[in-house]
Amino acid sequence: MRFRRIAPEVLVGTSRAWSTTCTIAGPDGAVVVDGPVSPADVAALGARADARELVATHADWDHLLAPLAFPTARRRAAAATLRRLAAERRPIAGELAAWDSAHDHPPRGLPDWADAAELPQHGRANTAAGPVEIVPADGHTTDGVAILLVRHGVLIVGDYLSPVEIPSVDPIAGIGAYLATLARLDTVVAGVDWVVPGHGWPLTRPRARDLLEADRRYLERIAATGDAPLPRHATDAVQRRQHGRNCLCTRG
Ligand SMILES: [Zn+2]
Repeated sequence: MRFRRIAPEVLVGTSRAWSTTCTIAGPDGAVVVDGPVSPADVAALGARADARELVATHADWDHLLAPLAFPTARRRAAAATLRRLAAERRPIAGELAAWDSAHDHPPRGLPDWADAAELPQHGRANTAAGPVEIVPADGHTTDGVAILLVRHGVLIVGDYLSPVEIPSVDPIAGIGAYLATLARLDTVVAGVDWVVPGHGWPLTRPRARDLLEADRRYLERIAATGDAPLPRHATDAVQRRQHGRNCLCTRG
């Protein structure tokens, strides 16, 4: 895991696997948003923070493992994420088990988020890192929020605006929901210094806006015509497969 400090009280860790990020914020690293992936990442996070609160942006397993480093910290997630965790716990845990098995790690249980405290889907909440503004962010999944660390000028967006991936649209949420999320993020990005995507590394505001515009053009064109040039990584086989799935989201 590689750490970068982007504000006096904000440190971003990037896992080697999928460049998944976790953000440590507040005095003594009191709040961690999203989490590490591998057992080594979990240990590295545990050594860099003293978390009392853990926040998940959405219910994909690679964002849910911070409790393995801080088992007694308070867990918090928005209502749609808690609903998805309750309804899809078994397949989400299965994906973690499959990843551990494929990488020769001893199997790890998916942390239980059933008792997590509910965050609003939209609006303000207080955390140990100061107030946060919560922005609904569905489209990549049927759940999802972005978290603005108000005092620190940092917006954590979950799986949007990634420099390492093209958009990944959930077929149930749909391209319309994804584009609506990009429009909400656009407004918030305008007022921050840094954007932290769920995969990649911290982005300056101009870089985040470039990615947002490219993703908006890409998805608007798919919605209109059923296909589009990839916004980045056009020769990468994994991204081309994702592009194929995105194009299917227009058929119903
Ligand atoms: Zn992810």
